[in-house]
Amino acid sequence: MSGFDESDFDRVSQLIARTEKDPKSDSFDSFEARLVRQDGKDCLYDCVVSGIIFAGEDPHIISGNIYIENGIIQEIEERPVNSKNWIVPRFINTHTHIGDSFLKDPALGVPNGHVVEKNLDALVRPPNGLKHQMLAQIGFEESVEFMESAVWELFQNGIGVFADFRESGLEGSVALLKAVQNTGKDIFPFVFGRPQNLSCSRSPDSKGHSMDDFFTEIRDILEVADGIGLSGANDMDEYVLTKIASKTKMKRKKLAIHAGEKDASDIEAALSLSPGLLIHMTHAGGNELQKTADKNIPISICVRSNLTTGVGLPPVLKMLDQEICVSIGTDNMMLNSPDMFEEMHFLSRLYGLSDSTVFKMATSNGAKALGCRFTGSIEAGKKADMLVLNSKSLNLKNIKDPLAGFVRRAGKDDILGIV
Ligand SMILES: [Zn+2]
Repeated sequence: MSGFDESDFDRVSQLIARTEKDPKSDSFDSFEARLVRQDGKDCLYDCVVSGIIFAGEDPHIISGNIYIENGIIQEIEERPVNSKNWIVPRFINTHTHIGDSFLKDPALGVPNGHVVEKNLDALVRPPNGLKHQMLAQIGFEESVEFMESAVWELFQNGIGVFADFRESGLEGSVALLKAVQNTGKDIFPFVFGRPQNLSCSRSPDSKGHSMDDFFTEIRDILEVADGIGLSGANDMDEYVLTKIASKTKMKRKKLAIHAGEKDASDIEAALSLSPGLLIHMTHAGGNELQKTADKNIPISICVRSNLTTGVGLPPVLKMLDQEICVSIGTDNMMLNSPDMFEEMHFLSRLYGLSDSTVFKMATSNGAKALGCRFTGSIEAGKKADMLVLNSKSLNLKNIKDPLAGFVRRAGKDDILGIV
């Protein structure tokens, strides 16, 4: 697991799995994918998928065939075809925490009359937030089992790549990779690990953990994970943060950090680390977004999560005005279903964004943010990471503008198959 670049193509193409039914449910019907020989072209493609194709990053909606060989799109042919299924890219979910999927119905705060007074720190802030208390009680095997179900859920929601903030130290990152492997599915985890013991001081703490132990764990995590994912700049001292950032960069891995979720107090410190990915930025002001743009740092926004925890809404329009690469994360499984369709519906309605802007945020922008150039859009030369949606479902029938229908109305029940 060393991040994404051209050299990963071979490895990824070996991971390709054709559409399969989840053995635990029968939620997918079949769709047409067949072997064809292209007469006169002297080549045999593995598979052709026909329908209404959302081709390219800023999608050009065409009727035609997609020819696939060894899991890679070889050719997109525009022509009239019988199938009216929509063929869209699989989603790139740039921020999850699937390790807390064992807890899907936490109390969000203290009831007060008809409402609940929400408390983000009590829920998720390390080391004493509810989530961390629960994580501490779960063993390795149990954790793998919960995460395996979570990976199935991500897969069935049409997600091709997910970037996970994995708690629980080295063991946590290893457990996540094992969970993905156990599913046997073609879904790519981008693992942001995090040390188990966050209270890192220069003298050993009450449990005998020293700073050397801390950085040994960082080094070990960077051997198996794609980067380090930090809970926030207010949770550690500046010296430690800077050292983590430099060690991560030296290993040519990616540093990601939550910033500006509850308030703006941790944004400047997070920006000073020049991370590879910022999460939330809900309370980012103009100057901070300007610096983010100047440093060319992508942002993963988590709008439904922010609504769930009551922290406010991120300034998405200002981010886009600054030409920041904005992508979508569904955040903690304990707070939200990993449903990228719902994220698109919310973004479209809350901000009045254009359909193509929302489409890019859910697909190609995520691929760019994570540096996985081989996926995120349907184009010749890219991995065939696609969903086939049933345009004749009750939900989608009679839609005249497939892009509008996909962004504002489609849901995971419309998925016929995953290529
Ligand atoms: Zn998060």
